[in-house]
Formats: sequence, C-alpha cells, structure tokens
Amino acid sequence: MSQIALDPKTAPIFPMAAHTAMGDTQLRKNVKHATEVIQTKRARVVGEMPDWQALREAGKQIRKHTMEHLDHYLLEFEANCTKAGGTVHWAQDAEEARRIVIDLARAAGAKEVIKIKSMTTEEISLNSAMDAAGIHPVETDLAELIIQLGEDRPSHIVVPALHKNRQQIREIFKAKMNLPDLGDRPQDLADAARMFLREKFLRVKTAVSGANFLIAETGGVCVVESEGNGRMCLTLPETLITIAGIDKILPRFKDLEVMLQVLPRSATGERMNPYNSVWTGTDPAGLDGPRNFHVILLDNGRSEMLGDGEARQTLHCIRCAACQNACPVYRQTGGHAYGSVYAGPIGAILTPQLQRMEHAQSLPYASSLCGACYEVCPVKINIPEVLIHLRDKVVKRRTSGFTGLFDPEAAAMRAMAMIFGSERRFRAAQRMGRMAEGPLVGKDGWIGWLPGLLGGWTQVRDLKEMPKETFREWWEKRGRA
Ligand code: SF4
Repeated sequence: MSQIALDPKTAPIFPMAAHTAMGDTQLRKNVKHATEVIQTKRARVVGEMPDWQALREAGKQIRKHTMEHLDHYLLEFEANCTKAGGTVHWAQDAEEARRIVIDLARAAGAKEVIKIKSMTTEEISLNSAMDAAGIHPVETDLAELIIQLGEDRPSHIVVPALHKNRQQIREIFKAKMNLPDLGDRPQDLADAARMFLREKFLRVKTAVSGANFLIAETGGVCVVESEGNGRMCLTLPETLITIAGIDKILPRFKDLEVMLQVLPRSATGERMNPYNSVWTGTDPAGLDGPRNFHVILLDNGRSEMLGDGEARQTLHCIRCAACQNACPVYRQTGGHAYGSVYAGPIGAILTPQLQRMEHAQSLPYASSLCGACYEVCPVKINIPEVLIHLRDKVVKRRTSGFTGLFDPEAAAMRAMAMIFGSERRFRAAQRMGRMAEGPLVGKDGWIGWLPGLLGGWTQVRDLKEMPKETFREWWEKRGRA
C-alpha cells in the first residue's frame, strides 16, 4: 500500500484547492479543534518560561551561525559520523536520495522496512518508490500509520493525521487491521496500533528514519518523539538508514540544550519530549543499536536557498509546526490545500524554494501577513518578510516572461506602464475612458459589465465618477478664453 504523494508540480493553485477544502465542514471542524488544543497547551508551557524570548533569540543565533558555516559543519559531521562507524552519503536531489535508500535496503536483504515519522522522506516520496521497488515501508508513528493505512496524505508537520477525528481513525483501523469490534476510545485505538506494530518491530531488520538534528561535533543523530516507536526503530534493527536535509545540522552537542527546550514546547505543548534519542555510529555486536548505520544528507534545493540572503532564514526551521497552528489561513483550509507535504506558513515559504520557484508559486500569497507565525516561531524566522520577498520573485519571473505562460495581470501592468509612459497615450486613454461611459461604466463610476475574467474582477470593484474634463483640459480652455 503506498501513500499518495503531494506533488507541487501537479497540485492545483492554492486559491482553487483552498476553495475545495473550505467546503469540507468536517475537515474544518477537525483542524480547528486540533490546532486550538495544541495552541492552548503551547501557550501554557511557554508562559511558564520567564526566559522564553531569550531562548528564542538563542535558537535564532544558533541556526543563523550554522547556516553561515554550513559547509564546515557538514564536513565535520561527516568526519565524526564516519569515525564512529557510520557511512555518510550525499544526495543532490530526491531521485538520488531514493536510489541510495533502495540500494541500501536491497543490500541488507530487506523486503520490508520499519519507518520513523520523517517529513524528509515525505518530501522525496520515498514510500511509493520503495513499494515500486518491492520493499514495503511500514510507518510506526501512530499518525503516520493512520495516514498510510487510510491511503491519505499528511496535512500537518507534527500531527500528520490532524484532519481526522477519532471515529474516522476507528473506521480505518477496523477495515485495515480486520478488527470489526474495535471501540473508539483513545486506548482502544492505541492498543490496536500497538498490537499491529509490535510484530513488525520484532521481525523487521531494517529501519528508515529522519532526524531532528545532526550534531557536527560528535557525528551523532537526534530524534525526538512521543510514542517510543522511534526508540524501537533505532535500537532493534540491524541496519538503520537515516535521511536528513543538510539544514538539520547543529554545531555542538550543547546546542541541544536550547533546541530541546523550544522544540517540544512549540510543537506539542510539552515541556520535553517523552523520548529523546541521540545515537552515534554503530554497535558492531548489535546489542545496543544497529550494526550498519547510514546517513543520507539531502540537498534538494537547499543550497540554492542558502545563496539567497533574504530567504536563507527558511533553513533555520526546526519543523515544530507552531506557525501552522497559529496561522488563520491554515486553520481554515487545513494542510492538503497547500499541495505539498509542508503546509501552513513554513510550507508557503519552503515549498516554492524547494521547487526552485518553478512550481507552487501561489503559496507565497497563501497568507494574510498578520505576523502570527513570526510571533510563535521558536527560532524567530520572519516568515512575513520571506513571503514578501518570494512574492517579489514570483512577480519578477512573471513579468520577465520567464515562465513562458501568458499572464493577464503582467500584460495589463505592461499596458498600463506603456500608457503612463507617454502624455499623448495617457490623454488618448482618458478620452477613451470617457467614451466607455454608458455601456461599460455608469455616470457614477459604477462598472456594469466587462468580458471574461475581467467580469469577476469588477464584481467587487467600481471606479470613481469620470470627470467631465481633466484639470489640464480645464486649464488650457481657461488660457484660451
Ligand atoms: S517556521 Fe518556525 S514556527 Fe514554523 S515550523 Fe519552522 S520553526 Fe516552527
């Protein structure tokens, strides 16, 4: 069974997808309820930290420093991970990363792998590629399992099945786990998942994980989680394949002191994650960790982001999803409308850049620029600033004709520039405007009818009443008199 990939190349533009999502009242109810619960918990645990703003600033400075010296820290991580027995692979793009994972899993003789929740593997559509290669991935995070069994798509970075309620989850488990009498209490659902997964943990010998952080100083990898499934995947299998974006680096072990305070509070409203696992290298005896350990460092557009001084801060993200929960747009539409595994404000700035600004160009507009995302971001990413910067890039691409598509707005702006660039043309346009009075524009400026797309535009717009003559015409007449 494979998950449906969210592909920004083929996804409908955000306004269309949002319109569809807004018609689903159950989805809106589920998203509203879940985001409100997480926001309330977050506000409580953040409120009890007198140094919260100082922690945010420390988080920002750590991430900023890391990105400014990313080349150095990546090489340091590679050297230390290798020294500890791990093998580091470099993947330029999603295709290369998928190929490396599949080759490694085949080399380990795997027909099935157990997986820890990972947005990076979602980003590269790993599950469907593995299925196609005859290696079945089993998601072990509860929410990811719901998504996988329901053949659905994640809609939230931290809580991928946030758009589903308990009854919907029960129906999925009943059907896919063959449990006709399953109850709908949280305990019933958790027990069903536990029974389903335990056999996999004990049998499957290869695991695939993401990483919250890669520690350059030690070559260690850190995963934080709430269910213990991650710990099982990290310790039981003989082969562990970790895939992480190059932006996941932290310079020093002690940087975790800041990150492990701001991340759980922002993500799930917890003071700390129940499971914080840091592992370094291999255990040749296989008693305490994998015998074979591979880390794949994925670029997939990140180096280009690094080269853009204004948008680079996107790479500071630690994927806590606090901006999603706070965003008034996300809370109405849910995640699927963004057409990408990264939804909400972070998706609106990250996805177009991962697509090298060639796709998902409507996403920088999926925001009211209210600034709620910036206020909650634990590493102080100024998302509204990046959104405006990306809007500028989108407009420049369009007006330069770089996209190769006809853009009516850009054409209209070019026509306006031509008119305003010449007095003669401007006067002619004024005369024509007066001639339009009647069939198109009423005497009071009311626009009655315009053809095609322009008709939609005029539904909510009118003009000022057209003057009988311009000031210049009046002045010239006066001079003649
Ligand atoms: S942009 Fe900030 S708030 Fe949003 S997911 Fe990333 S770290 Fe969290």
